[in-house]
Amino acid sequence: MSWVEGADGGPYGIHHLPYGIFSTAKDPTPRVGVRIADQVLDLRKLATGTFFLPWIRPAFQEQTLGAFMAMGRPAWRLVRLQLTELLNAARYREQSATLLTPIGKARMHLPFDVADYVDFYASEHHATNLGRLFRPDGEALLPNWKHLPVGYHGRAGTVVPSGTPIKRPSGQRKGPGGEIGFGPSRRLDIEAEVGFVVGAPTEPGSPVAADDFAEHVFGVVLVNDWSARDIQAWEYQPLGPFLGKSFATSIGHWVTPLEALEAAKTAAPEQDPAPLDYLKESERFGYDLALSVSWNGVEVARPPFAQLYWTPAQQLAHMTVNGASLRTGDLFASGTVSGPEADQRGSFIELTWGGAEPVRLDGAERTFLEDGDTVTIGATAPGPGGETIGLGEVTGTITAA
Ligand code: MN
Repeated sequence: MSWVEGADGGPYGIHHLPYGIFSTAKDPTPRVGVRIADQVLDLRKLATGTFFLPWIRPAFQEQTLGAFMAMGRPAWRLVRLQLTELLNAARYREQSATLLTPIGKARMHLPFDVADYVDFYASEHHATNLGRLFRPDGEALLPNWKHLPVGYHGRAGTVVPSGTPIKRPSGQRKGPGGEIGFGPSRRLDIEAEVGFVVGAPTEPGSPVAADDFAEHVFGVVLVNDWSARDIQAWEYQPLGPFLGKSFATSIGHWVTPLEALEAAKTAAPEQDPAPLDYLKESERFGYDLALSVSWNGVEVARPPFAQLYWTPAQQLAHMTVNGASLRTGDLFASGTVSGPEADQRGSFIELTWGGAEPVRLDGAERTFLEDGDTVTIGATAPGPGGETIGLGEVTGTITAA
């Protein structure tokens, strides 16, 4: 039971406590906040007193989550325990109520400086659909796909917070007659994804075992990996995605701590062939996140995250197995989340089958994004004791090229 009104039974109750960076009109300095119900608890103010241990306090004088994330799991657990106590115990009510800001008055910022951004391709349904669309005459899944989590390095500097307008990119694309031209993308798309945020860094040359996932990953954030399919289709061979993706990637305002998702753990699909040793997990699990994709306010898909073929722990093991070090703020995303059903596809190229099967939206037939369109991705997960966790949302509106 929390003393904060509306917390109990809601998606932002005491069991969740996601972190973000906020400011207000009165106090425009960005600072760390924790969401409880429809309020933001100001950790910078809280850390000016003696509530946190002295070694923890400086992390909450920063304007991003980086310093706190870098402290590692012991600090994450300790602070979470203390915040749970603070927001539970009635004796804290009077002094702590002054630390709360209504969410409507909070301006939200990018929660952490993105160090490196990696995007995987971990959903078998998505990879199969894209294989069919991009290579209609070949095998849907390429021979490596079931042996390793395929991924690529994206552009960290263009990761933007939810709500940032997305300017339609221009680039080279192939016309219907095969002619090569330049201009605004005509096949602008979304990718509904889940991102994992690295807190504790590593030294070069020290791979992270899949079982050490929770020692390094601080939390989870929703991702929309905007994709210009016409630019992508022309440029991607043989080195993979480039300008069709790098113009913008949106992430949610709130980072859900991994610990809040304990009750959302679920068995991951069995793998055939068995993965190599470095990709084996002693406890193999996914997270039971139910995503939703809304296009101009109309829900068009509900992609299930639980059945991803390659788990986040395997993704982390793979991206470090060559000795590449982790930095605080590294973001690795799952790749588009798609399920087996037509209404579970996490991109419009799949939902409309390359534009051949338009969806109906406000009475009109639609395929790819038009200027002025808004896409919002949300997600929920089971919390402890039958409660729900809301992972917030990541939203963006397309503006003209
Ligand atoms: Mn992607």
